[in-house]
Formats: sequence, C-alpha cells, structure tokens
Amino acid sequence: MDPEAFVAHLPLCRALPKLELHAHLNGSIRSSTLLELAAEHSQNGAVSYPELVSIIEKEKRSLPETFKLFGLIRLVTTNHQVVTRITREVIEDFAAENIIYVELRTTPKNNPAVGMTKRSYMEAVMAGFNTDSIAFNRIYVRLILSIDRRETTEAAIETVRLAFDMRQEGCEIVGIDLSGDPAIGEWKTFLPALTLAREMGLPLALHCGEVHNPEEVKSILDFHPERLGHVCCLDDLEWQALLASKIPVEVCLTSNVATLTVPCVADHHFVELYKAKHPIVICTDDPGIFCTTLSREYALAASCLDLVSEEVVKLAKEAINLSFAEPQLKQTLHQLFDFSHLKQAPSLPIGAP
Ligand SMILES: [Zn+2]
Repeated sequence: MDPEAFVAHLPLCRALPKLELHAHLNGSIRSSTLLELAAEHSQNGAVSYPELVSIIEKEKRSLPETFKLFGLIRLVTTNHQVVTRITREVIEDFAAENIIYVELRTTPKNNPAVGMTKRSYMEAVMAGFNTDSIAFNRIYVRLILSIDRRETTEAAIETVRLAFDMRQEGCEIVGIDLSGDPAIGEWKTFLPALTLAREMGLPLALHCGEVHNPEEVKSILDFHPERLGHVCCLDDLEWQALLASKIPVEVCLTSNVATLTVPCVADHHFVELYKAKHPIVICTDDPGIFCTTLSREYALAASCLDLVSEEVVKLAKEAINLSFAEPQLKQTLHQLFDFSHLKQAPSLPIGAP
C-alpha cells in the first residue's frame, strides 16, 4: 500500500456519501466515553483505569489489548442509559463523516440485575436514534440483531423471534447476524434460528471464516446467506465455492490486519475479490476498537486497488444494492449519490475526521 496514495485519497473518501453495513455497536464506542465509563467502574475495583488509559492512547493495539477492550466494553455497557448514550454517539460520529446509511449490529442482552431483557435492550438502542438531533436528519439507521456464538439454540431463536416481532411493530430491524468468538460454538447450534429467520423473511449477514474451520465455512456457503463478513481463512475449495456463490462480502481491512487474520492490507483477499468482480462492500467492523473510520477504510482500499476517483465512487455506491434497505430507501440513497454534488467539493460537516 502506497502511503502517499492513501493520503491523496482521503479527502474524496471523507466527502463521499457512504454506507456502513458492518459495524458493531459496542465496537464503535467513542474512546472518550469508554474512558469516562471506565473511570466510574474503576471506583468499585472492576476496571484497572491506568491500564485502560494506556491501551486507549495507543494508535496500534496488540491483539490481547484489543480483546481486553472488548471485555471492558462488555463490563461497562450493562444498563439502558449507557446503551442509549452509546447508540446516539455512534450514530452522530457516523453522520459526521458523511455516512448516509448504517446497518448497526448488536446482540440483544438479558441482564436481570438491572431489569434488562432482550427487548428492553433493543428499546434502549432505538431510543438512541429516535431523537430530534440534527445529526439524525442526514443518516438512515437500520439495525441487525446479532446472535452471539456463546448462545444456545433457544437463546438464538429468542433473538430471531424478537427481531421479527419488533419489525412487525414498525421498528427499523432489517436482518440477523451471527458473531462473537469464532473459536466458540458450532454451526448446528445456530442453524435452527437462522433457518427460522429465513422463513420469517429476515436477511442474514453472517461472520464467516474468521478462523480456519473448513467444515463450518462449507455449511455457511451451502446455506447461502445474503451477505458474509470477513471470509479470511478459506481453503482453495471454499474460495472457489465463494466466488461461484456470488454472496456479497463485507470487507473490514483494518480489523482483519489488527486481529492477525491477514498479514497486511496489500495481501488482503479483497484484492482478488475486487478483480474477480465479486460483490464487496467496505466496512469498519469496530471503528472504536480498531481506531479507524469508514473514510479511512475507503482510502486504504482505494490506494491498495489503485483506483481512480470514479471507481471509488462506484465502489461506495454499489453498497446500496448490497444493503438490506427497503426498495424505496434504496432509491433515495441512489439520489444522494450525485456526481455533480461531489464535483462541487461539498463542505464537510462539523466534527468530520
Ligand atoms: Zn464483525
């Protein structure tokens, strides 16, 4: 990757309207908010505050430090108010860098200690973006409910039923995800819930191939979800099956390098996917955890693929067709991708990175 090309692409990538289709709510938390919450928890001895400060201040975090952050976020995001606040801030940050549509994914949680059910958790999330704030006038928010790989079949089914019920009630829920520690859980545990989701008309965006697990990758490809996340660790046979399947891939460059699933951006498999004209969409995964933004990810991709401006715009625009947005909203999003608008070099919103 050419650092000069990366820097040259950044202004366009910041100004470009963008769609974020793979971002986890908890992983998108602001560092300042995490520090503030951790300070509160450090008073009861739950968090080592000095250690957290040292991790957050680093621009490049080691893998153990990254997992430490995930654990910490889980520890401090346990009540409804915090969930609402984080959601509001995450969406404000996305809107500030010209993201016009986001599919935010999160795992509904039960926490009896604070009277939290999976439904009340989701209501707290939705309270974070059903506001009159100016930022929310320029971003469309949709939710994907995640099944955590630690969950049982019953718990996974509960999440799918909740997604279906809330969507019937008019909530902005558009799909189901399978995520969490890829070393935990078996495909057969989640299959009944994912099959039910399909029967209920909920599209699937599943994490796939984060570790070497050919049997599961084969099962997922055979199941043919609407989208796949990552697909880093595939053998030749599965790679060919992926290409033949044309299942769109959510590409998270910085995340994959940070978690050591690919050696560097230049050697990332998205280059081959792009050259094969396989449908891909550039995403962040966890911008808070991996210290990145969607603009930065687009600039990385553009410099790596040696794209000209028109190709960068085309790549960003193609995300519309890969999104789970309703047809009418897709039309609106297409209208927001106006070349003449870009040629006028739009002024960046306040707070843009
Ligand atoms: Zn992810």
